[in-house]
Amino acid sequence: MFQCTAVTLLPPDAVLRLTAPGVDGPEEPEPYVLCELGAHDDRRTEHAAYLRPGRTPDSPALWFFWTGSGPGRIHRAESAPWCPAVLRRLDSGLVRRCAFLDHHTAPHSWDVTDPLGDLIAERIVSGDSPEG
Ligand SMILES: [Zn+2]
Ligand SMILES: [Zn+2]
Repeated sequence: MFQCTAVTLLPPDAVLRLTAPGVDGPEEPEPYVLCELGAHDDRRTEHAAYLRPGRTPDSPALWFFWTGSGPGRIHRAESAPWCPAVLRRLDSGLVRRCAFLDHHTAPHSWDVTDPLGDLIAERIVSGDSPEG
């Protein structure tokens, strides 16, 4: 399934919180965030973007949730526990944890592909320049 394509501008207070002293985070966080869930019905489910990790890898992380866009946007930044799902590869024994929050919409993170990322990868492989 493709990743949801929703992008939104972080409100200044959320950016401030990310840059607050004592917070381990990027020095200048991107003001834009991308919904990380698989494509979903945005009238029933909020978009969700990962902001920063919790105290430990298992602690709830900070997420930014929003619905709508422009002046009609409703948003909140909240800690959310991780989705408990894991993907076990029987051949290699590797365990992958779902990178989404608990109770997210289907599918889990390993079944979500980023169409933009794939497009960029294709460009690199084919070696086309934008000018032709
Ligand atoms: Zn979304
Ligand atoms: Zn999951």
